[in-house]
Amino acid sequence: MAKKSNVVANHEENYSFFKCVEEYFDKAASLLKEKYDDGLLAQIKACNSTLKINFPLQVGNKVEVIEAYRIQHSHHRLPTKGGIRYSELVNEDEVKALAALMTYKCAVVDVPFGGAKGGIKIDPKKYTEAQLEKITRRYTAELIKKNFIGPGIDVPAPDYGTGPREMSWIVDTYVSFNPGNVDAYGSVTGKPITQNGIRGRTEATGRGLAYGLNEACSYPDDMKKLGLSAGLKNKTIVVQGFGNVGYYSALFLEDYGSKIIAVSEWNGAIHNPQGLDVKKLSAYRLKKGTFEGFPDGKFIRNGNSALELECDILVPAALENQINLSNADRIKTKIIAEGANGPLTPAAEEILLKKGVMIIPDMYINAGGVTVSYFEWLKNLSHVRFGRMQKRFDMSSNQNLLNAMEHLTKRSVSNDMRDSVGRGADEIDLVNSGLEETMITAYQDIRRVWKENPKVKDLRTAAFVVAITKIAESYKSLGIFP
Ligand code: NAD
Repeated sequence: MAKKSNVVANHEENYSFFKCVEEYFDKAASLLKEKYDDGLLAQIKACNSTLKINFPLQVGNKVEVIEAYRIQHSHHRLPTKGGIRYSELVNEDEVKALAALMTYKCAVVDVPFGGAKGGIKIDPKKYTEAQLEKITRRYTAELIKKNFIGPGIDVPAPDYGTGPREMSWIVDTYVSFNPGNVDAYGSVTGKPITQNGIRGRTEATGRGLAYGLNEACSYPDDMKKLGLSAGLKNKTIVVQGFGNVGYYSALFLEDYGSKIIAVSEWNGAIHNPQGLDVKKLSAYRLKKGTFEGFPDGKFIRNGNSALELECDILVPAALENQINLSNADRIKTKIIAEGANGPLTPAAEEILLKKGVMIIPDMYINAGGVTVSYFEWLKNLSHVRFGRMQKRFDMSSNQNLLNAMEHLTKRSVSNDMRDSVGRGADEIDLVNSGLEETMITAYQDIRRVWKENPKVKDLRTAAFVVAITKIAESYKSLGIFP
């Protein structure tokens, strides 16, 4: 086993997700010490506001006390932004870490928000829909009372264990408490379309991951070092977690021609070296609640062992701390794309980097969700659907152009060409194009720092250097720091 520092060993024994994020931050900040004042770097690293709340919930004839958090890591840009997680594992350290990652993530993809995160310490599977609604509405009311939510204050979104349904309860509660506020729908993103959501938000994190991986795999020299050819076609992929991020990542990677050879869940994994049909697998799991019995693959009872299968790309998309000192030595992939937040510990990363694995960090590769959340927030504040004003105009201009081409060449344009070239962009086209542009540009920024600075040895450090530099420059323009 690779030699590990004491700091790292302590993390593993006494795991603190926030300390892991701080360790990554410190590694990158040490390269920026000559450029930025220590006080400025300390301000960027510090967590700005923490709200811990406890409220009662009547379940049958008993009352349960529910523990919940909202933590705003950085106010350098407002509103702050970040998901809300429902899980039994929620604790202050975890929410702080996730809030901090949001700060750096937003900076990397140029989304003008500070970082935040929320969490309710419950296992949603143990509650009825009515109880979940009550918990969500009460949590929102607490955030309103404490001024921790609002379109210009702090804007939540879905995360582990939550989705459009919970966002819809949150916005409905916020709107009820803020009658007459025309921007009230901008208080939360990831809402259903019928509640002023945006097309493409549900699948945005997985789609963004596929765009990001496609860009990362497009550099022949980088791929050659890993013993791979450029492009995603025929790459073998293992995905951990088949929820929002895992499912859509697998689906869009399949579209690029990759082979999803294994998918793991908390209750077992499924493996087929020839590739699984993602939609078919999802339909089966929705019906049965497990992969067991799926006809086109071999069921593996210990789901976590799927992480150790030989593959080109591993996409951990479940929770933090999944690849650590206990299994890092046995990971046999060439690329890791961190769909989840914090799936690797720093000690595991040290081992994997020494083995030559390319690690594409969470703060970049899963930023598709917050990017499209930003588009949703803009839509809510502008009160108009993207594409509404120009779609017909673009369509008729494009048709006129095709007509002119026909006239000049005396040849007719095929119906297929008329359909593809002669159209105007819908909301979903604009959202996906904005997302693709964001993921490509951000990767190029990170890669440039990685390639041009010999002291930057890995993509995570490069991403932190990019993020810290952008945040530091915005603080400096306030004139507080030297
Ligand atoms: P989700 O609740 O939709 O899905 C998570 C899935 O992981 C569930 O199906 C769950 O059963 C499964 N899982 C739990 N433990 C597992 C285990 N040990 N092995 C395999 N599977 C396991 O949550 P999500 O929204 O997909 O979030 C997953 C991760 O992605 C989290 O770390 C979250 O912070 C991160 N993330 C989510 C978004 C988003 O837009 N939803 C954006 C960025 C990052």
